[in-house]
Order: sequence, then C-alpha cells, then structure tokens
Amino acid sequence: MIALKNNPILIFDTNIFLLGIDFNVIEGAIYTTPRVIEEVKHKRYTNKNRNIINRIQVAIESKKLVLQTPSNRAIQDIETSSKTTGDYRALSIVDKELIALALELKLILNVDVILYTNDYSMQNLCSELSIPFSALIRDGIKTRVIWEVFCPFCNEIKAVEEFGKECEICGTRLRRRRKDEIKLI
Ligand SMILES: [Zn+2]
Repeated sequence: MIALKNNPILIFDTNIFLLGIDFNVIEGAIYTTPRVIEEVKHKRYTNKNRNIINRIQVAIESKKLVLQTPSNRAIQDIETSSKTTGDYRALSIVDKELIALALELKLILNVDVILYTNDYSMQNLCSELSIPFSALIRDGIKTRVIWEVFCPFCNEIKAVEEFGKECEICGTRLRRRRKDEIKLI
C-alpha cells in the first residue's frame, strides 16, 4: 500500500458514519474497523441509516473505504495507555480497536492519519498518543452540544456542575463527554 504524505489516511468512528457523509467529496482513503460498521448496522432503523449503509457498501467495493482490524499487540498497547490517562472505563472495545488501528497505520505504514470522532475520551487518549484527531460537524447545520460529566474511573454520570471537580467516591478528576447534539434550524 502506498500513501502519500500529503494525503493522510482518514479513520472514521461510528458517530462520523452516522452523520451521512458523501464519501466522494473526501480525498484519500478512509479506514475503519469491521466492528464500527457492525455498530452502524446495529443502529439501523430509519431510512436515513439504510442510505448510509448503502453508501458504505459502495465505498467498500470501490476500495475508497478499507476495513481493517488492528493486531492484538496494538490493542494491548491502547489498553495500557488508556489506564494511564484514566479513559480505560470510558472506552468500549470498538473505541480501543479504532485508536489501535490509527496507531498501527501511523507507526507501521509511516503515514499521516487523522482520527475522526466525536467521543471526548477517544480524543483525550489520541492527544496523549500524539494521534491527530478531529470532530466533524456537518456543514450548514448548527448544532448545540450537550455535555455529560462523568468519572472516568467509576464510569458514573455526575451533575454537570461537578465538571473539573474530583469524584467523591474515588478522587479521580471528573471529565465531560458529548452526550447529544441538538440541531438548531
Ligand atoms: Zn470515581
């Protein structure tokens, strides 16, 4: 596989696929894991999601979208790192696999990568690992983000006013993550 330095590989999380992106407007290859696609399919109950799944199938067939599972070694590295940052409990296996894939492509293929995700804990771990990341908001639609404050160790939801304070149970500093977005039309 040849990738040019000025054409970074884009790695998409479930929440990015669910925005319904037209893959044709994106330059370069998009990577994700098979589990992410399973998540998108699992959330299928609207016509909109069926269109998204159809687009994904076309993109896979044209090799615009590549599905790849990272090695166990890379996943273990992510588990270790996420315990250090306190994101371990907040990250699902799908989240960890996706960051592991980003790390593996960056280190083994020596290409530039950008991980697209709206997940605050994933962004947090990416910044620790020097993996470039971005949140993608669809153009032309204004959104208001609803945050949720939680303890990354206990994984308990806290009152929003508690953000930045310490968890009363374990003493870990509370963090926030994107809970929802409200579209303002
Ligand atoms: Zn706690």
